[in-house]
Amino acid sequence: MNVKEAYDYSFAFLKANGVDEAENKALNAVCCIAGIKLGEFQSHKDDFVNMKRLADFLWRLKTGEPLQYVMGKWDFYESEFFVGEGVLIPRPETEELTELVIDYAKSLEKPVIFDLCSGSGCIGISVAKKLSNAFVYCIEKSKDAYKYLERNAKGVANVECILGDINNEFDLPSADIIVSNPPYIKSGDMKTLQKEVKKEPSMALDGGDDGLDFYRIINDKWKKYLKDNGRLFLEIGEDEGESIKDALSAFSNITVKKDLSGNDRMVVADKVIG
Ligand code: GLN
Repeated sequence: MNVKEAYDYSFAFLKANGVDEAENKALNAVCCIAGIKLGEFQSHKDDFVNMKRLADFLWRLKTGEPLQYVMGKWDFYESEFFVGEGVLIPRPETEELTELVIDYAKSLEKPVIFDLCSGSGCIGISVAKKLSNAFVYCIEKSKDAYKYLERNAKGVANVECILGDINNEFDLPSADIIVSNPPYIKSGDMKTLQKEVKKEPSMALDGGDDGLDFYRIINDKWKKYLKDNGRLFLEIGEDEGESIKDALSAFSNITVKKDLSGNDRMVVADKVIG
């Protein structure tokens, strides 16, 4: 089959099997297998598509596996990240947090940055790639996620990956910036997640009873790693804009920012000195 035929077939197959976003998934799957960008579909309509791979992709999508896992990689900010079972899929709202960090870090001479609960490393590695004068430590405790982190950081000289739990102590230089997209979904809401999100690691999503467990750890254990004029950047759940202020008692100038969908999504805060 060529690209056009494979797309028509995939769309019909996914739709018939009740897979949501069938059109988008069919397009992404076929382009991925044909090795072309989405925008190249028209000009490559007659390219050959490996049917064995397509059959495998379609079968996995039918079972509810996320498109990103099936493809094995996903675009985030300005590069592609390897993803698969065991690691959180990078999301567009996290690109906004990454942009905030880059904008701030640009003004610093040789910023030291920690990316806590790094997952695929999408935030930290994107910042490191953009700012060659920065040095980024990416910390992740899941061994499965860490494999992706290491793979994604390969060849990026200004990133160090650390396998570790943010509850523990680390031997690190003081940081100018701490950034994190920690698990923030309330434990009680975990069962209401979309079928495909349920295939992502609960360890990367479940933030405890009120969703704030990891912000408390960051507040209690990580302030000491920040320089006095250091700054904290966090992603939060859309209903956590108010409660986050109580959780971050060791920080001041706590500003909640909205994402492009208009939901509270990011927090920027300064360290309280002393
Ligand atoms: N944004 C993710 C979701 O809603 C949650 C990510 C996280 O817990 N850090 O699925």
